[in-house]
Amino acid sequence: MNDVKIGEVHVKTVLTKSNLPIAGYSVNPYVGCTHACKYCYASFMKRFTGHDEPWGAFLDVKYWDKIKNPQRYDGQTMIVGSVTDGYNPQEEAFCRTRAFLEEMQGSKINLIITTKSDLVVRDIDLIGTFPSPLVSWSVNTLDEAFKDDMDNAVSIERRIAAMKTCRAAGIRTACFISPIFPGITDVFAIVERIRDFCDYIWLENLNLRGSFKADIMRYIKEKYPGLLPLYRQIYNGNDLTYWRALDEGVADYAEKNGFLYVIDEEPFLRDPTGKPVIINYFYHSKIKQTAKAGRK
Ligand code: SF4
Repeated sequence: MNDVKIGEVHVKTVLTKSNLPIAGYSVNPYVGCTHACKYCYASFMKRFTGHDEPWGAFLDVKYWDKIKNPQRYDGQTMIVGSVTDGYNPQEEAFCRTRAFLEEMQGSKINLIITTKSDLVVRDIDLIGTFPSPLVSWSVNTLDEAFKDDMDNAVSIERRIAAMKTCRAAGIRTACFISPIFPGITDVFAIVERIRDFCDYIWLENLNLRGSFKADIMRYIKEKYPGLLPLYRQIYNGNDLTYWRALDEGVADYAEKNGFLYVIDEEPFLRDPTGKPVIINYFYHSKIKQTAKAGRK
């Protein structure tokens, strides 16, 4: 791993009221994220941190006042890892995510953990004490070389192995197929790989509105030149054809395989069915409207 500048910050609380549609609170035990994904939507955070280093090259370990009376959050959804990964490699030493889970013991929160790591397996003993915990892994490729180009996190195979282990321990699992890179992410191959030990499959398309658009377009030009016209069509021309076709393909796949396929639904609304529920979080309202209209 590249050199990482480690610091520490002290805050009143690690709980942040969330704007995310799926969570009442977000929990980020670190500032920054050493997984350094090239497409990281959270990298905008850097300007609030006082850091000059590139995103991924710094990490502030958070310490907070002890959470008093955790039971008062019963029924609330808390998502760990919205602008960091609570299981970045440094968590092995600092255990701040584990500290949060320990402080919340005895509460009945709806716990969601999102990660790109298998370190989460270390905390199965604590995670399993919450009423219906859910752990999700981001997997947007089965190609380790493409993964290595995109992030510093553990291999795809290690993430999938961790998903299997958590599921075997009775923890609900999700595969976050995100971001979907047009022409590169094979959604169906990923679904086939994880379908036997995954309760929810979340789909989200690559959004290039961020400052990283130029970097990604340059990467596509260098590594996948044949896809450049498609990327220009989608990201410069706002053409939705690719996403509509993917939406239809997934709907068709779901129907053939007996999976439920829903649009933009909160993950706790449905109990596991024995087969994965596929939830489409394509961001563009036009896609959502078209997709919803098509299935009514
Ligand atoms: S794991 Fe998430 S928060 Fe961390 S760099 Fe990647 S996208 Fe950003």
